[in-house]
Formats: sequence, C-alpha cells, structure tokens
Amino acid sequence: MSFKATEMNKKPITYKHQAVHNVPVQSVRIQDTFWEPKLKVLREVTTYDVLNKFENDGALRNFDFVAEGAGGFHSGEPWFDGLIYETIRGISDILAVAYDEQLDHRVDDIIERIVRAQAAVGDGYINTYTTLDRPGQRWGENGGFLRWQHDVYNAGCLIEAAVHHYKATGKTTLLKAAVLYANHMSEIMGAPPKRNIVPAHSLPEEAVLKLYQLAQDEPELGAAMKVPFEANDYLELVTFWIHNRGNHEGRYSHGGEYAQDHKPVLEQEEAVGHAVRATLLYTGLTALYLCTGEAAYLETAKKLWDNISYQKSHITGGVGAVHHDEKFGANYELPDNGYLETCAGAGMGFFSWNLFLATGESRYIDKLETILYNIVLAGRSIDGHKYFYENPLVSKGGHNRWEWHSCPCCPPMIIKILPELASYIYAYDNKGAFVNLYIGSESELTIGDVPVTFRQQTNYPWEGAVNITVTPEREASFEVRLRIPEWCDQHVIRVNDQAVSFELENGYAVLSRAWSPGDQIQLALEMPVHLVEVHPIVTTHADKAAIRRGPVLYCLESVDNEKFLNDTVLYTREALRENHMERKLPLNPVFETEYDAGFFDGAVLVRTKDEAGNPLTAIPYPYWNNRSRGTMVLWLQHEHPVQQEGWEQKLYRTIE
Ligand SMILES: [Zn+2]
Repeated sequence: MSFKATEMNKKPITYKHQAVHNVPVQSVRIQDTFWEPKLKVLREVTTYDVLNKFENDGALRNFDFVAEGAGGFHSGEPWFDGLIYETIRGISDILAVAYDEQLDHRVDDIIERIVRAQAAVGDGYINTYTTLDRPGQRWGENGGFLRWQHDVYNAGCLIEAAVHHYKATGKTTLLKAAVLYANHMSEIMGAPPKRNIVPAHSLPEEAVLKLYQLAQDEPELGAAMKVPFEANDYLELVTFWIHNRGNHEGRYSHGGEYAQDHKPVLEQEEAVGHAVRATLLYTGLTALYLCTGEAAYLETAKKLWDNISYQKSHITGGVGAVHHDEKFGANYELPDNGYLETCAGAGMGFFSWNLFLATGESRYIDKLETILYNIVLAGRSIDGHKYFYENPLVSKGGHNRWEWHSCPCCPPMIIKILPELASYIYAYDNKGAFVNLYIGSESELTIGDVPVTFRQQTNYPWEGAVNITVTPEREASFEVRLRIPEWCDQHVIRVNDQAVSFELENGYAVLSRAWSPGDQIQLALEMPVHLVEVHPIVTTHADKAAIRRGPVLYCLESVDNEKFLNDTVLYTREALRENHMERKLPLNPVFETEYDAGFFDGAVLVRTKDEAGNPLTAIPYPYWNNRSRGTMVLWLQHEHPVQQEGWEQKLYRTIE
C-alpha cells in the first residue's frame, strides 16, 4: 500500500489550551539552500544509516526473539526498543513531507516485527529487554530496576511513534499496538488500588498526551481498530505520573534528583539531574498544561525554563554541563568542556516549542533557533552518518564524531527534531499568522476562514534579508507577526517597498492591515558579526568573548589557525601568560565576512586578526570536525570592561 502525503489527514496534534495553533509538517515545503540539502541527507543517508546500524546491533532481532518465544539473549541496551521507536517517529514525519516507498516499506517491516512480539507477550506489554533477560520483573518490580529497564520510557516512545506514523500514513497497525499498550498501563498504574509506577526516564508524558488528543479528535478509531480508546484514561495516567514524582510509596526512588524524582513536579523550581530526562519531563509538563489549562503546570514550566535559559545554558543552546550522571550543573556552571548531550539540546528545543504554543512569546523561538542552528546541526556530520554525543566548546583534538555508539540515543533524536523544523516556521491564532523562523519555504494557513499562502525567500542564516509574499484567497485583514530575533539590534520592514509602522509585541513585529494577493513583506535584519560576553558571575569566562553572526556561533579550528589554536587550547592560561604565549583578540577587532560556496553546502566564514596581527578564520560551530580532527575553541581571549548592570533575563549579550 502506498500513500501520498497530500491525501492524508493534515490536522496536526493540537491541544485545547494552545495560545497559538501549530501547522503540520506536510503543509510546509522547505525550499532553500541551507536546510534543504541537510534534510535531503537526513532522508537519504541518516535514516538508513541508523536503521542499518540498529539491525547490525541485533536490536531489531530482539523483537524476533520475543515473537518466537524461544528466548535468546537481548542485544544492546534496555532502551534500544525506545530508540527504534523514536527513529520510526522521525521517519514518519519525513514520509509525511516527502513520500519514499522504500523507506515506507522498511518501516512497515519493522512495525510488523514489533507487533508480532507484542502479540506473543499477549497483554499489550512489550519491552524486549525485560521479556528476554528479566522475565518476571516488569516495570522494575520483583527485585528489578526500572531505571535500567526503561519499560515505561520504551512504552512512551512506541506510543509517540504510533501517533506520528498514523498522522503521516493513515496506517493503524502501530497505533493499535500503542493503544493496547497505553490501555494496559492505564489499567495497572495510578492511585491505589493501582500501582505507583512512574517513568524513570521522561518522554512518556507527552507521548501519552498525544494519544489522548488523538482519542479526543478521532474517537471512532477505537471501533475501527476494535480496541477501547478512552481519552480520559490517558489524561489520568499522565496526571498521575506528573503528580507522583517524589512519592516513593511502594516503589524505589528513581535516584532522586537524577531522574527528577526528588519531589512533586509542581514543587520543582530548579532544573536538576539528568538533562535529557529533565527537558523531556518539562516538555510533558507543558503539554499537560496545554491539554488542561491548569495554570500551575505552566507556571512551573516557565520557572524551570527561565532557570535553564538564564542560568544553565551554554551559548550554543547546549544544556547538561556535567559529565557525571549527564546532568545539569549548578547555576552558572558553564565549563567550556561541558557535556552538552545532543539529546538534551533537542529536549530543550521541544520544551521551548511547547512553551511557545502556550504563550506566543518569541523568546522560546529564539532558544529553539539557537539550538537548531548550533547543537542539532553539530550533532551530525555533514555527510550524515557520524554523530556527536557531547558538544563541548573546546577540543584538544580527541573529540570526534563516531560512526556508532554503545548508547546511540542522539541519532534518533536528530531524526525526530529535524523534520519537525517544517512545523516550527509558521503558526497562527485568530488574529493572524506568526513567522517564527526565516527559512525559504511555502505554506498555506487558514486565517479566520481565508486560506492564505506564505512564500518566503531568503538566504538566512547567511543573510538577514527575507522576502515574504502573502497571498490570501481574497483581500482580507489580519496580522502578520514577524519574529525579531534576540540577536538583532537593527531591522527594517517594508510592505510593497513602502516603509510601514508596526508595534513590537512579545518579540514580534506586528503588521496589521488589509492584505491583497501578492503583497510583499521585505524584512531586513542587520546581521553584523558580534562579540558576545557571558554574565560576569561566570568567572571562568571573564576576559573571553564568542563570535556570533545571526543565530550561528563561530569557532576556530586548528586546520585554519594552527598556531593560535594549539597554544590557546593545549596550555593553561597561567602557562600561556608566563611564557608570553597568550593569544587574544584586540579590544575592537575588525571582522570581514565572506560567503564561501564551496564550504560544504555553502557558509559565511569570518576573518579577523589577533592582537599581534596574525590572521584568523572562524567557521560556523556546527560545521566543526568535518574537515579535520584537530583542536577547536569557541570562547576567545578578549579583555573588555565588565558591565554588572542590565543582565535581567539575560545570560549572554553583545559587547557594545
Ligand atoms: Zn543522546
């Protein structure tokens, strides 16, 4: 069976209390020179690469062992089931945008194997590790260890993949498996007399809420699949999970702060513990607000986001500074060799997106943009089949992308978030449209009852000029909100070549007028090279600055700057100073930019000179470690006056 995305259900999962409506991935076509080649590599290289490597790991064979009921040792880590499901979720979104028969069949074959394994177990439960290696210890009970077994996490990944696969293809095979599984969990987990089982690794929270929303939107699917499909059961399950963190009655703690299981979520105000778990928990918490409208969930989510953004984020958007336990550090603990797992960055991206849906505020998109252009893109090699787990801001030369990993969680996360990019570009509410991201693209939104086509042309992020053609079906009055990025100091907006006045609201320039077919918005975002400093409380970065242009951070690699870099990276500051080897930027460096069409799929490079007059070349941070395996540094020595004022809701800012 084949399908055409355009024929499929185009309604995305939308929660009741969103301030802003999202659009489905398949209603946006990305046409540009920056993202299009990267998404092509994702579709044609990365997806197959990841599926093949899981097959080679024996991770898919685990399902066959369970289906055959003959035993056999589990291959890989207990959470490999979940990683395979996450890959299916991402591929589903890719298929929704660009149908690919081979990929569609490949996924169908895997789904067949999953469903056979689930049927062999019999009651909806499926976790190949527990079934093969720890029978009798489901959910970590009877002497098991849920934090290791990942039963609930894997279940969540399956459920989320199923919703995305159904939305993309209209097929219900995996969805039926997900409903059986969710029903099984609803039966056994909850307040007494049910059992106190909560996820030891978050993700199931939002996953089950997506199923809840689908059950609300399309309750008739239950009869079609011949399974009970009760929305309220799913909402109740997630509410139980959120409220019973910190309640260890009848179960072990999942490691306290490590898994955000130290106290009830609504009492948590500081982001602590394992950063991937944390960001996915907060994503689910925000989704629970979006489903219920309960203000306390949103207030807590915003507090946690503020804590991460203004006290615990690296300049690239990376989070989770500490290697041990892959966790958040203390406030303002932002070492250059921070851990910064690709997955944690993506998790922060999902969290930020949900907060945008809840509030319509641009600062959440600013964060998402920083993460997409820096952490997510750095996480994968340009050729699409090597990956970073950690994303430090300095390297002495030993940090290289790997072909594969004993814990290959990051590649599926990249496969999940990159296709979602299409759905982040535009959004709308009853007053008009939001243009969040500047990416060459075309989309049709319905504003009021008027279909409106938006067509963006831009060379962003290398240039700040954006042209948007607005074509309503007939003349109509509505707002177009253009995000003014946090990094941008100067911007000019014209409509049909005429300067226009506008209000700034929640970080958006609001253009309110009667629009006629073919109206042109010309947005010019000034995009100079900036030097950026960090909050003075971060003492490790006194006398340092980072090069940023637009949303992209720049770094120096030894392949271009051997002398400067090797001295800077390989010796301590004290040693450099003592031996007069300290290399720094002058107070007011002159920057020159050059678009190099041959630098991978094209990039703007930045050239300047160090204090001694030696030439330096800076490249976009996400492209590092693609040409050489040398040293790299992002924060550069730069002595500038320290400003103690004006740091409210800021961790980084341009040096004036
Ligand atoms: Zn990861």
